[in-house]
Amino acid sequence: MAENNDINAEKAKQSADDRFSFENESYRRTYWHTCSHIMAQAVKRLYPQTKLAIGPSIAEGWYYDFDTDVKFTPEILEKIEAEMKKIIKERLHLERFELPRDEAKAFMKNEPYKIELIDGLPEGETISFYKQGEFTDLCAGPHVDSTGRIKHNAFKLTSCAGAYWRGDEHNKMLQRIYGIAFPKKEELDSFLKEREEAVKRDHNKLGRELEYFTSVDIIGQGLPVLLPKGARVVQLLQRWVEDTEEKAGYLLTKTPFMAKRDLYKVSGHWDHYRSGMFIMGNPDDETKECFALRPMTCPFQYQVYLNRARSYRDLPMRLGETSTLFRNEDSGEMHGLIRLRQFTISEGHLVLRPDQLEQEFKGCLELARYFLQTVGLLDKCTFRFSQWDPENKDGKYEGTAEQWNAAQAAMGQILDHLGLKYETGIDEAAFYGPKLDIQYKNVFGKEDTLVTIQVDMLLAEKFGMYYKDADGTMKLPYIIHRTSLGCYERTLAYMIEHFAGAMPLWLAPEQVRVLPVTERALDYAAETATALRNAGFRVETDESGNKLGYKIRAAQTEKIPYMVILGDKDMENRTVSVRHRSGRDLGAMTIEALLAMLKEERDSRAAK
Ligand SMILES: [Zn+2]
Ligand SMILES: [Zn+2]
Repeated sequence: MAENNDINAEKAKQSADDRFSFENESYRRTYWHTCSHIMAQAVKRLYPQTKLAIGPSIAEGWYYDFDTDVKFTPEILEKIEAEMKKIIKERLHLERFELPRDEAKAFMKNEPYKIELIDGLPEGETISFYKQGEFTDLCAGPHVDSTGRIKHNAFKLTSCAGAYWRGDEHNKMLQRIYGIAFPKKEELDSFLKEREEAVKRDHNKLGRELEYFTSVDIIGQGLPVLLPKGARVVQLLQRWVEDTEEKAGYLLTKTPFMAKRDLYKVSGHWDHYRSGMFIMGNPDDETKECFALRPMTCPFQYQVYLNRARSYRDLPMRLGETSTLFRNEDSGEMHGLIRLRQFTISEGHLVLRPDQLEQEFKGCLELARYFLQTVGLLDKCTFRFSQWDPENKDGKYEGTAEQWNAAQAAMGQILDHLGLKYETGIDEAAFYGPKLDIQYKNVFGKEDTLVTIQVDMLLAEKFGMYYKDADGTMKLPYIIHRTSLGCYERTLAYMIEHFAGAMPLWLAPEQVRVLPVTERALDYAAETATALRNAGFRVETDESGNKLGYKIRAAQTEKIPYMVILGDKDMENRTVSVRHRSGRDLGAMTIEALLAMLKEERDSRAAK
């Protein structure tokens, strides 16, 4: 890279500072990529027989794939780290050079994966290398100028995993080492600490340990089994959402999980979403019936509206359904309870007159915010206004530019009136209209959509959903497609992570555990449990012969909100000794006082 230190030194210095700032993604990537070369050099020094595959920087750090008989254990990773430190201290200069194809292949003759990469480069492409000391790698760059630029005590090889060459399971399984580095040791330490916390909260681990869900190979990927605890939380959420929506004027519907392909032809899903659907029958054989599981509820719920002729007085019509959907996603996309092939959402469609759009959109947003706030997730949500891309010509979108511009202008105006802060996502719209997506990041920073509210000016026409207006003319309504708590499985996953498994009392699958200290207290324990159960609490009694300390630890590990401990003194005084899962000792109280305290916490849906 040419230096421009001759004119405007101040400006050059400023831009150099920006260039070398770790805040700058391209510099960060360059730094991490250089680390990957240092790691590969260390591996080659220690295990010269190792063959090198690829070693890019990634969103957080870097990895390198190696083909070797050496098993990379944690002890070996430490050895590699020590060798990397040496290479950093040697301050090796990184030097770029280029070679014609045949010379490049000759140069890499002992690296079969590099030869394959060179063969894959298009004719005429520059073939460049980076050399540092005795080590040279096929690489497009860029890199920092010296291994000495890397902070010797602020990097870490975090893990090792198997990875197929080129991600193809027919190829050889290689060993991938991941690493992370920062310019300062404190930054590395805080990153590792956060990471450790995230791993502890990861719903895919914690949710299985706490027995919220499991997955079974012979059922399939993306098809989790909710265990009794997970099923209970989802049921409680569903009841609450359905009851709250009823108060907000929603009519509950129950529509079929599948339909003939004819329905999806009308809705447009057959043309725009067929690869995402599970189809039963031969989709191309028009002489036989062919069904598909529903990927969305829209065309089903419209039939409720279409059940009879509608007038302007019927609008807005708000339809809600706890709806199970099926989407044929790639198996590589599956993740715990977040990315699934079958899931259940709080689905809804509002059919309305154009003059009702703003009011109803606002209502949908308020409802979603109320739900997300109550389950503790709203504070970390961000909003995205997802729009179409007029340049996208591959048939992703239906409708004319006029219709799209009108819908997006209307929605933009509503969002501005609400004073909502949002990002714009181009080419993120549904095929029939723009949407507001409420986004959430899991503990590892991976973002997904939690809730969506969409404005649709196209589907009503396809289904002939006219209404008779006050002046007697037939008009087309607008439709809002919306969810209010999104997908229940996904919400459960985020809640497990957010609360580190300690669900708020109202949702805890087991709310209270009764712990008799000795066998003498068994009758009193049964009486106490009955009183709690009669007040509507989910309660279990630990009747094992274990010591009290053991019983308390077990309840705490399972994140049971309250423990009710019954000793001789409690029996005598007709009291109970109460302990919170946090370790807080609430002392002795009467059963009545306990019930009052628990009811207050449960009914306010507080998170404690
Ligand atoms: Zn490289
Ligand atoms: Zn819909």
